[in-house]
Amino acid sequence: MSVKENLQLIQENIAEVCRKTNRDPSEIKIIAVTKYVSTETAQSAIAAGIEHIGENRDNGLNQKWEIIGEHAVWHFIGTLQTRKVKNIIDKVDYIHSLDRLSLAEEINKRAKNIIKCFVQVNAANEESKQGLSVDEVVPFIENLKDFPLIKVVGLMTMAPFIEDEGVLRETFSKVKKLQKDVQALNLPYAPCEELSMGMSNDYKIAIEEGATMIRIGTSLVGKEF
Ligand SMILES: *Cc1c(COP(=O)(O)O)cnc(C)c1O
Repeated sequence: MSVKENLQLIQENIAEVCRKTNRDPSEIKIIAVTKYVSTETAQSAIAAGIEHIGENRDNGLNQKWEIIGEHAVWHFIGTLQTRKVKNIIDKVDYIHSLDRLSLAEEINKRAKNIIKCFVQVNAANEESKQGLSVDEVVPFIENLKDFPLIKVVGLMTMAPFIEDEGVLRETFSKVKKLQKDVQALNLPYAPCEELSMGMSNDYKIAIEEGATMIRIGTSLVGKEF
């Protein structure tokens, strides 16, 4: 199937979940994750109507950014090493993987304008995953007050890579609840209105549980390498 057909199918699925849960489909943004595909394929996603592009490596982001530049909104979605911040900071609109103060400090130091960040939550407490545990998130966000160029627009999570719907749902709903706790802090730098959750295999459940940005790679643009 073409990227355009894949996108149509995903949009139909979003519409159906939204009908079921009384949500407005315009609340949900699709980030095309292009880490496994060429710049050309990323461009075909943009031609099909995609506005948001997600990359998880500084190299991949830079390669595509050189060609696509301002024609997309750029999301950095992967583990971000502190020393690599300078390579991406002028190109990204959003960083989805803020999980430590040393990274916040470096982003704040290198940024020329306010950077929209998601605090990454390891909601299922998996060894293999980056992110703060649920209990660490509120104190961490309180500590971000010292970094004026960081705005916490939301929380990001990756659910365990399993098919058990109950576990997926529980993971996402934990993060939704945590979002409410953060919003209750009423911090001007942490409106936390967005939830970045849901990938190819679990985005419908993520939307049912409150996702506002879904990060879709394989089932939208495929896998070329
Ligand atoms: C690769 C990746 C995705 C997309 O995964 P798919 O299963 O291919 O949709 C989403 N989020 C993050 C953080 C990723 O690294």
